[in-house]
Amino acid sequence: MNIATPGNTAELLRSHGLSARKKYGQNFLVDRSILEKIVDAAGVGAEDTVLEIGPGLGAMTQLLSERAKRVIAVEIDKQLAGLLKESLADCDNLTIFNEDILKWDAAGYARSEGIESYRVVANLPYYITTPILLSLLEGEAPLSGITVMVQKEVADRMQAGPGTKDYGALSLAVQYRAKASVVCTVPPSCFLPRPAVDSAVIRLDVYPEPPVSCRDPERMRRLIRAAFNQRRKTLANALSADPVLNISRESVQHALKEMGLDELIRGERLSLEEYAKLSDVLK
Ligand code: SAM
Repeated sequence: MNIATPGNTAELLRSHGLSARKKYGQNFLVDRSILEKIVDAAGVGAEDTVLEIGPGLGAMTQLLSERAKRVIAVEIDKQLAGLLKESLADCDNLTIFNEDILKWDAAGYARSEGIESYRVVANLPYYITTPILLSLLEGEAPLSGITVMVQKEVADRMQAGPGTKDYGALSLAVQYRAKASVVCTVPPSCFLPRPAVDSAVIRLDVYPEPPVSCRDPERMRRLIRAAFNQRRKTLANALSADPVLNISRESVQHALKEMGLDELIRGERLSLEEYAKLSDVLK
């Protein structure tokens, strides 16, 4: 059965006494052509191990299982995970975990199973899109690519450059690890229930090596976070106010001067390359 129609999704939920749970960001895709577009754009092939976050009713899971070597699907909702284990029992390359993706140890599982890298594919729950992406991009799980449905506004933030209103810690976290490109935008009518916002499918091609060099990437991340936590402040004030960084305003101003930047500059003006350099200079 093609689950991805409004009628079939509604019937599947009804027949199991379920309804879409808002608290888990459940907006099921009910347009098969969009599902196929996501799986095509992700470039899933017979050698790939796919990590699907939030398989829901399994509309995309089935397609992924047909194309990939293995599919690992992590679903927080116990009832949906149970339903999937029944409905997709025939997919013998599929492993379903009833877990919270933010707590599930993707790196540890890869190590224990000999998984070289994950290709992440998902229609993400929008209430935790940013934490999920940050944990993937900043975590240790090996990744070959990420193709996900997100709110259009989040897709814009991932691609934003310095000096724009969308530019922030997420833009820099993405750009340090991957090249981002929008596959397509998706209207609310492709989901059941319909979300209040437009969506976009974004593809992140993970670099084998980061595009900028930095001696201590963890410290650079901390600098970036501190800069955007107080984005209206000058960079020197924002960084010196951070309790963990423990650097003085004067040393930031000195470092900025050394880099040929205005000492009153705000963090939203610095590029990834400049953050990498600042982190090294401040060290
Ligand atoms: N993949 C399905 C589809 O496209 O129709 C469902 C997508 S729905 C937008 C998001 C899914 O993520 C839901 O199934 C929801 O229960 C699940 N989810 C929400 N929070 C989660 C979490 N922390 N960990 C794992 N899954 C989660």
